Amino acid sequence: MDIPNRTALCPAGKKASECSRILETGRPAPQYYFAWSQADCAVCPLKAQCLSTRKRIPRRSIQVGELHMLIQARRDLCKTTVYQIRMRRRSAIEGTNSELKRGYGGGKCRYRGLAKTEGQLLFAGAGCNLRRWAARSVWLSKQNR
Ligand code: SF4
Repeated sequence: MDIPNRTALCPAGKKASECSRILETGRPAPQYYFAWSQADCAVCPLKAQCLSTRKRIPRRSIQVGELHMLIQARRDLCKTTVYQIRMRRRSAIEGTNSELKRGYGGGKCRYRGLAKTEGQLLFAGAGCNLRRWAARSVWLSKQNR
C-alpha cells in the first residue's frame, strides 16, 4: 500500500481502481478508502479467500488510517530476528514491571511532581527487591537443611 501515491496492490497483484481520502467529523486523522475493480475480482482465483459472501457488490475494498504504512513497517520490523532478540531483554523486565504495578501501587502516581514521583518509584523498587531478597533467603535456607 502506498498512501502518498494513492495506490495499493492486492494479494493477486492487481492495482486498486479507486482511492478516496475521507475526512469525517469527530475523527482527527483522515482515512483512505481503496477498492478493486469488480471485473478483476470476478475472475480472480483468490476471490473465495478474499471476498466476503455478505458483500452486495462482489469486489474488495479496504479503509485504512493515515498511519497505516508506518504501522505496517513496524509490524514487519517486529518479525525480524534482530528485533525479536532485542525483545527478549524486554520480556525479562515485564514481570517486574507488572509486580511493581500490581503489588506496589506503581500504576498510580501518589504525588505531584517528578521528584516525588521518582521517590515513590524508587521506594517501590526497593521494597520489591527487599521482598525478593527475603523470599530467596528463605528458599536458600530451606535448601541447606
Ligand atoms: S479478489 Fe480482487 S482484490 Fe482480492 S485478490 Fe482477487 S483481484 Fe485482488
